[in-house]
Amino acid sequence: MAARAVSAFTPPVCIACNCCFSPSMGRGWLSLCPPCTGAAFTPQTRCRQCGFRLGPRLQAFGWTRCRHCRAAPASTRTWVGADYLPPFDTLPKALKFRGQQALACDMGVALAHAFLQAKDVGNGGKGSVDAPAEEPDCLIPVPVSARRLRERGYNQALLIARSLGKTLNVPVKARHLLKTLETGRQAELSASQRQDNLASAFVCVGDVEGLHVGLVDDVLTTGATLSVCEQTLLQAGAASVSRWVAFRTPEKPEPIEP
Ligand SMILES: [Zn+2]
Ligand SMILES: [Zn+2]
Repeated sequence: MAARAVSAFTPPVCIACNCCFSPSMGRGWLSLCPPCTGAAFTPQTRCRQCGFRLGPRLQAFGWTRCRHCRAAPASTRTWVGADYLPPFDTLPKALKFRGQQALACDMGVALAHAFLQAKDVGNGGKGSVDAPAEEPDCLIPVPVSARRLRERGYNQALLIARSLGKTLNVPVKARHLLKTLETGRQAELSASQRQDNLASAFVCVGDVEGLHVGLVDDVLTTGATLSVCEQTLLQAGAASVSRWVAFRTPEKPEPIEP
């Protein structure tokens, strides 16, 4: 009881920069101080397909996709909350391993902001990467295995999806997509090994027929997990899938010519 009384009067500590901040300072973010919120969530013009930032030169040319994605077939739309860069590079781990559920709430709101601020136009069909921004019919989090769920107590992607869904007024389907196989430590594997490992790990058990599904995850790095989940949903009858990720690993700068 005493501990609870103390914590009620302790000012919140920003989980990115460790400063203490007064809730009256900002816009009601739960886990980040107002300067960190501003730095992380300044709206960025991003590649529609992979979520990399688009520099001013590409924007001036009217490009909506980065140089990598323009060389590849058009696929799904990606929405990003913030880049996975210091001081925010500690946040995905905080979300996953330290039970920072308030951060999941913030990231859902940040994703909703990124979407609502994109006043984009498009010339593609419904759900395509070149279509204008549209809310999905439902949100489905990238699932974790039953074992992982027992260990962690929650699925961070579901927490983000709930916050995003509440802000955009889009229903969340928490049990439509399941992870039925434990795929181990993906970080230690090459891209092709990850893909093989993941290929049979997911199953869709809900009705997604004809729907535009928003697939939600915490971090986008290679996109291997998202691709497999996307394929699973499309094979189950989804009309289209868009990606919604709280954090995006940024593009590596091009090597400078000697
Ligand atoms: Zn801060
Ligand atoms: Zn791209």
